[in-house]
Amino acid sequence: MHAIAALNAAASRIGGDTARLDAEVLLAHLLGISRGALLLHPDRRIDVQAYDLLVERRAKGEPVAHITGSREFWSLDLKVTPDVLIPRPDSETLIDVALRLCQPAPTRILDLGTGSGALLLAALSEWPDASGLGIDASPAALAVASENAFRTGLADRARFMPGNWGQGLDQRFDLIISNPPYIAETETLSAEVRENEPASALFAGADGLDDYRRILPQLADLMQPGALALLEIGHSQGPALLDLAAQHGFSASLHPDLAGRDRCVALRVAPLQPPA
Ligand code: GLN
Repeated sequence: MHAIAALNAAASRIGGDTARLDAEVLLAHLLGISRGALLLHPDRRIDVQAYDLLVERRAKGEPVAHITGSREFWSLDLKVTPDVLIPRPDSETLIDVALRLCQPAPTRILDLGTGSGALLLAALSEWPDASGLGIDASPAALAVASENAFRTGLADRARFMPGNWGQGLDQRFDLIISNPPYIAETETLSAEVRENEPASALFAGADGLDDYRRILPQLADLMQPGALALLEIGHSQGPALLDLAAQHGFSASLHPDLAGRDRCVALRVAPLQPPA
């Protein structure tokens, strides 16, 4: 069968908003070529049976990134398994904000809850003189992150360690980045996310703020003078994070994702107020 006919059939079998894209990514994966290369030669002949197996998994709700075993983030090709959150374009907001606000260039970067390593490796890819530490509570996630450091050629500058956020870390950093869990336990997620991605990377108590409440008290002792901390947030959590930030002595600003919704809070230790 020609690729184009197989793609059309696959897209209608998969259904949903991303059906066509999913069909293309899966076929490119099967052929071991880029999506661009696939689309340049829509009349190439393909092995329909092998393709059908992938399309069937997708049609049953398995994420594309689990079928291909990878996902692109900030132009890095990262390994993805069910042990880590699938890197999302929303999280690229943190790297955008870091590039704008983190002056001078950071040399020591900390990623709390590193998962696949996506944020830390993206940051290291932007700052060639920086080195970084990624912390995660999950040994399985740390194994994926280490593999990704090698895969992206950044292993000589990235270290990974098990830990409970920043607890017990006796170092200071110029830039701290984190995408903690922030979904309220009562929220209903799509079946695709709920059934395939680690709950420990998604849910954070009754209001989704539990992990910010753990992380914020630790941050100041991890920050060099003038350091910046960037946390990903849910789009309705901006006001709550501004409150928490003020309670813990930070000056904070909110930054939107590409859809224009609050996605990142930037924190700096607030200057001491002179006595009145
Ligand atoms: N942005 C993710 C989602 O909506 C959640 C990631 C997180 O909790 N850190 O599924």
